[in-house]
Amino acid sequence: MDATTVIIGAGHAGLAMSRRLAERSIDHVVLERGEVANSWRTERWDSLRLLTPNWQSRLPGYGYEGEEPDGFRDMAATVAFIERYAEVVAAPVETHTTVTSVRGGDDGYEVATSRGTWRARSVVLASGACNIPCVPAVAGLVPSGIATLTPMEYRNPDQLGEGGVMVVGASATGTQIADEVHRSGRPVTLSVGEHVRVPRVYRGRDIKWWMDRVGVLDERYDEVDNLDRVRSLPSLQLAGSDDLRTVDLNSLTDIGVKLIGRLAGIGHGKAQFSGSLPNVCALADLKMSRLLDRIDEWVVDTGLEGAVEPPHRFEPTRVESSPPLGLDLTSGEIRTIIWATGFRPDHSWLDVPVFDRRGRIRHDGGVVEAPGMYLMGIPFLRRRKSSLIDGAADDARDLSAHLAAWLDGNGRRPHAAEV
Ligand SMILES: Cc1cc2nc3c(=O)[nH]c(=O)nc-3n(C[C@H](O)[C@H](O)[C@H](O)COP(=O)(O)OP(=O)(O)OC[C@H]3O[C@@H](n4cnc5c(N)ncnc54)[C@H](O)[C@@H]3O)c2cc1C
Repeated sequence: MDATTVIIGAGHAGLAMSRRLAERSIDHVVLERGEVANSWRTERWDSLRLLTPNWQSRLPGYGYEGEEPDGFRDMAATVAFIERYAEVVAAPVETHTTVTSVRGGDDGYEVATSRGTWRARSVVLASGACNIPCVPAVAGLVPSGIATLTPMEYRNPDQLGEGGVMVVGASATGTQIADEVHRSGRPVTLSVGEHVRVPRVYRGRDIKWWMDRVGVLDERYDEVDNLDRVRSLPSLQLAGSDDLRTVDLNSLTDIGVKLIGRLAGIGHGKAQFSGSLPNVCALADLKMSRLLDRIDEWVVDTGLEGAVEPPHRFEPTRVESSPPLGLDLTSGEIRTIIWATGFRPDHSWLDVPVFDRRGRIRHDGGVVEAPGMYLMGIPFLRRRKSSLIDGAADDARDLSAHLAAWLDGNGRRPHAAEV
């Protein structure tokens, strides 16, 4: 089977690229191991809602059409939205087709799948950024008798045994799960490392509205000082809900969640925690204030001061000055550990030498270091918004332009930042 371009993955990123290629009349196929929007169907917990408001899902040729632009989709609505997008753009998706290897061929690539091999001049990797939960090596030292699970295995509190739960990681996933599990009657201890604190609402508007307007989300990969660092930043401590409540460390303390430092090790049945909790919280508070300062400056510069609520600041994160540095995991206090310690992509099927020493794909703004190969949907690929649904439109526009120029074979491979 032949196509000019093979796109791997029918999440929103692969579908956005499909739409951009169709606009340029580049023939292509989208290969998907499950159904359209497979990650949202199979890999998320029951109560999850998007933390981006409904309006913030502007895909090429499609966007939110309902009556609640400021609401937050649950998983069923998210799947329906992406499914509808695939229909609207008539994406040529081959479902239940798992890519098992991609190899360099005579004139492009050979893409082997569970349903035959495709030959293509170019390949777009849109297989997701969050395929595998990152679990720290110390997980192997957890005493037997304590159940452990990842956010991909977690569905709801009913699947957990009774007793205390330690959630490791305090970004979007960890704080949301800690909140839900604690409210179910299982006392939660939350291990907190570096995190990014933001309020849900500031000066009467959603924080995502501000970040969009002020231009934070449009910051480009070739404009930031330390790209490696921004690409590895944790997700915002944020949750989507009807009552627009802020889920942060103070709200968790208010309901009785116990905060401890970053999990540093496990030895002889005891968990050891870093003493840096007050520092990481102070740093997150400082960075939040800087974001709010930037918003306030923008309000002044654009003359919007009368139109929005006055500026204010939030209570600093409340933490014990000397939080406990150890916890006996054999005492029976903790019965379950949930590793909310991030996710990483799975490109284990990619048999092309494009990986760096840490196993990450070498690319320049999504233009992979292999001719005709492109990457979509990973954090800060080309912009701060690249990993969001809302980021795919611009990235797919840029990368499809690059891909088209490359296919034209006009003798010059454009620089990634030029497009
Ligand atoms: C818990 C969580 C909450 C999030 N919340 C938000 C939010 O509120 N708002 C927001 O904008 N973003 C959110 N994101 C981020 C982002 O939108 C998702 O990571 C999104 O799924 C990325 O889209 P994608 O199309 O790149 O990847 P995916 O949606 O993961 O799509 C990749 C597709 O590739 C397929 N695939 C993978 N490997 C293969 C293979 N070998 N062969 C064939 N097919 C394959 C998968 O089945 C999948 O369908 C969230 C992410 C997570 C993990």
